[in-house]
This record gives sequence, structure tokens and C-alpha cells, in this order.
Amino acid sequence: MNYLQHLAAAFLAAHAMNFFLKIPWTPQLAAAVFLGAILADVDHSKTKIFKFLVAAAAASVFAIAYTANLGVLISTAAGIATAAAVFLLKPKHRSVTHSWVAVLAYVVLLFVLTRNIRVSLNGFAGYAAHLLLDSKTSGFYFKRK
Ligand SMILES: [Zn+2]
Repeated sequence: MNYLQHLAAAFLAAHAMNFFLKIPWTPQLAAAVFLGAILADVDHSKTKIFKFLVAAAAASVFAIAYTANLGVLISTAAGIATAAAVFLLKPKHRSVTHSWVAVLAYVVLLFVLTRNIRVSLNGFAGYAAHLLLDSKTSGFYFKRK
């Protein structure tokens, strides 16, 4: 599944839930659904969210090192090392980020950050839709090991 299919399924699921619970859409809810729909694929090096994470981590480390007066060369090396570390430490595709534990962690994190159960519910809808859609293409969630 590509991210557009995940986004479509997530917003459809969230819209159905919001319709039945009479929850009006807000930008905050849409953001929770959007991130929930694509966050699971942060474990795949070809996804937009993984590339964004690598770039953000490398840029952040570069900026921190540069503002600490480490110089351009060392700061650049630290940024490149960070990108390499994120790439090497990335979990196997469809492992931990594609688990119901990850869904729970995302939902709890949203609640801790926003203190808004509607945001958590919409985050749940987005992330759960991702897992359910992936399970239709591989069936791995419901396999017994
Ligand atoms: Zn996925």
C-alpha cells in the first residue's frame, strides 16, 4: 500500500467514526489521522516519512553541533553520522511500528500531548486503519507464531 491509499482509508475510517460519535472535524483531528496513517511506515527506507525523519534528525544534529561552535566540517560529519545511524538502527519493516503496541503508544502519546480524547480516538482510527489495510495485503497481524 502506498501512503495515499493509507491516507484515504484512514480518513474514511475516521470520518465514519466521527460521524457516528458526532465529533466535528478540526485541523488537530485531521493531523492526528494524517500522522497515524503514515507513521507505521517509518520503518521502511523508501517512504516519505522515513526520508523526512532522516533529514530532520541529520539537520537537527548539524544545527546543534554548529551552534555549539564545533565548526562546519564536524557538524556536517555529525549530521551524516546521525542519518547513517537512523538508517542502520531502523527496525525491520512491518515489525514494531506495525503492532498494536505501537497503536497504543501513539494513542497514549496523543492524549498526553493534547489532553483531548477526540484527538486520541482519531489517531487510533488513522493508525488502526493502516494496520488493517496492511493486513489485507499480507495477513501477518493475525498469523500465529
Ligand atoms: Zn505499513
